[in-house]
Amino acid sequence: MSTDCIFCKIVTNDIPSNKFYEDDEVIVFHDIRPIAPVHFLIVPKLHVESLADCDETHQNLLGKMLLLAPKLATQLGLKGFRTMINTGREGGQEVFHIHIHVFGGGETLPKT
Ligand code: AMP
Ligand code: ZN
Repeated sequence: MSTDCIFCKIVTNDIPSNKFYEDDEVIVFHDIRPIAPVHFLIVPKLHVESLADCDETHQNLLGKMLLLAPKLATQLGLKGFRTMINTGREGGQEVFHIHIHVFGGGETLPKT
């Protein structure tokens, strides 16, 4: 838990979110600024800043997060989807609590 982290505050319900999945390790909610008809974020409850801060101790958690993507995408009616993990400022990361973006729906996504 990091006191100035927006996703930690979502985990503790101090900030509301459009959450639709939760278990003991992970929460999933819709992105507040969606870039596709369906766009959600898979977020661990554990505060880890980015993929670059992960090590072998996070292996099971990362695997679990990744395997949730197709399950939840299917539940939301997606037939295909894109996953994205922005890492570091140069990687476009804005919220420094690791998360997987999952998005799709509507038109076929462009290649880039
Ligand atoms: P990133 O650039 O990978 O760090 O992405 C951060 C994402 O978090 C952006 O797509 C934001 O729209 C999203 N975001 C920021 N604040 C919230 C919030 N309170 N609820 C839901 N999504 C958020
Ligand atoms: Zn956090």
